[in-house]
Amino acid sequence: MQKITAYKCDNCKKVTVTKQGMKKHEAKCFWNPDTKSCMTCDNFTPDDYEAPRLCSRGMDLQKGLNTGCPSYKIDPVLIF
Ligand SMILES: [Zn+2]
Repeated sequence: MQKITAYKCDNCKKVTVTKQGMKKHEAKCFWNPDTKSCMTCDNFTPDDYEAPRLCSRGMDLQKGLNTGCPSYKIDPVLIF
């Protein structure tokens, strides 16, 4: 058995074994407010995390959640 060092995302439960891998993940993590993604956006109303996904700003989420969204507004519950 070998002991390893791992890196955990500051915003979700994702873990990687390389620091570079985690930097890549955090740069696109849907739970990182800096990526301006649906999961932390006040306009996103996921009463069900499966489809249909609803955005009060009318963004098309049929192909997946948005990142770097121009209509992004941080969910007030995330501001401490
Ligand atoms: Zn993450």
